Amino acid sequence: MTYYGLHSLQHRGQEGVGIVTTDGERLQGIKGEGLLNEVFDEKKLDSLKGIGAIGHVRYGGKKGIENIQPLLFHSSSGSLALAQNGNLINANDLKHQLEMQGSIFQTNTDTEVLAHLIKRSGYLAQEDKVKNALSMVKGAYSFMMLTEKELIIAQDPNGLRPLSIGKVGDAYCVAAETCAYDLIGAEYIRDVEPGELIIIDRDGIHEERFSLSATHAMCTMEYVYFSRPDSDIGGINIHTARKNLGKQLALEVNVQGDVVTGVPDSSISAAIGFAETAGIPYELGLIKNRYVGRTFIKPTQELREQGVKMKLSPVRKVVEGKRVIMVDDSIVRGTTSKRIVRMLKQAGAKEVHVCISSPPMTNPCFYGIDVSTHEELIAANHSMEEIREIIEADSLTFLSVEGMLKAIGRSENMGKNCGQCMACFTGEYPTEIYPDTPLPYEKEMK
Ligand code: SF4
Repeated sequence: MTYYGLHSLQHRGQEGVGIVTTDGERLQGIKGEGLLNEVFDEKKLDSLKGIGAIGHVRYGGKKGIENIQPLLFHSSSGSLALAQNGNLINANDLKHQLEMQGSIFQTNTDTEVLAHLIKRSGYLAQEDKVKNALSMVKGAYSFMMLTEKELIIAQDPNGLRPLSIGKVGDAYCVAAETCAYDLIGAEYIRDVEPGELIIIDRDGIHEERFSLSATHAMCTMEYVYFSRPDSDIGGINIHTARKNLGKQLALEVNVQGDVVTGVPDSSISAAIGFAETAGIPYELGLIKNRYVGRTFIKPTQELREQGVKMKLSPVRKVVEGKRVIMVDDSIVRGTTSKRIVRMLKQAGAKEVHVCISSPPMTNPCFYGIDVSTHEELIAANHSMEEIREIIEADSLTFLSVEGMLKAIGRSENMGKNCGQCMACFTGEYPTEIYPDTPLPYEKEMK
């Protein structure tokens, strides 16, 4: 089940994958670099028998098998396996302190910092050790810990990354995205709340809190780009949210076109919404080669550039001689947009109008999504007209921040606190940012 769950979550990370199981007495794990089906075969899966398991797909970060999660630690007082989604913003400080106290680190991950904090905690009960460790870390973490007898999960006090609970038969399952439940026939129960700690063992599920000062600040990019369209976050379906973003964009834009096309896959829903509201036909102007990974997710610019060439092809008969409205979910560095605009023009498009279903991204993300450094973010360093020129589009429109909030609709339930992190668009970070807060992909903790 963990294997199939990870299969549904492969879009969240393609650098490496691992599974750790417990048979009630001991933990064992298998991990490797690459995609799920490259790392696991039937024989390996057969060797991982047990009563509980956790798995993880790795997104960006430092290379090396030691950095692939779950991280597995054995000690005389018991073993534990840890998997984390998100990025701790004070990991460097904590690591330095721990090393001063004698800790030796084997990986570049901030998840290992958490493991040391748990192990060094003076408390006796496992849940108290975890609570104590979590009181020291800051940032974004949806986190799972498997021991021989129990599974402990926690969501950071801002609930920055999605995490939910499901049930299959009399067993519980936990996943970053609800799309993982469909494949294993599980039923979604609820999202894990910010600041919540949940223990699942033979006696069932025990719900607690480790932080009382919790405020919802779900990553907006999960809705815009990152999550799968068949997942729901906070009761909102991702496809519906994206379609609404496209509809709102169509209301805000002033552009004439003959066809609307979306950049596959994450922008298709927004393009459909745009076309519906604008009354312009939606067409498949770009197709994607299914067997190449996502460009955005690859860790280097060189790989990203190679990726996009292999990934997208224009449909000449659809775009030839037409004024094409190209809907995309975001512009980060601008290089991908420029290539796609060129590709459409080379295929005969008369005009290419780029419409982006999110606002200009002007600030880096410190919470685990690679949206580049300030210097590399095109919208942080150029005017709208300059960006339009750089990407060689005939016009360029971004969605407004207000329009984005309205389209996603979380704010309707959350009132004044909109319930979303929008820091990469607004610069208002939901947590404090430390001077040496590492960006996820450049993290090399000393
Ligand atoms: S800064 Fe942007 S990408 Fe990062 S968590 Fe906030 S909304 Fe998501």
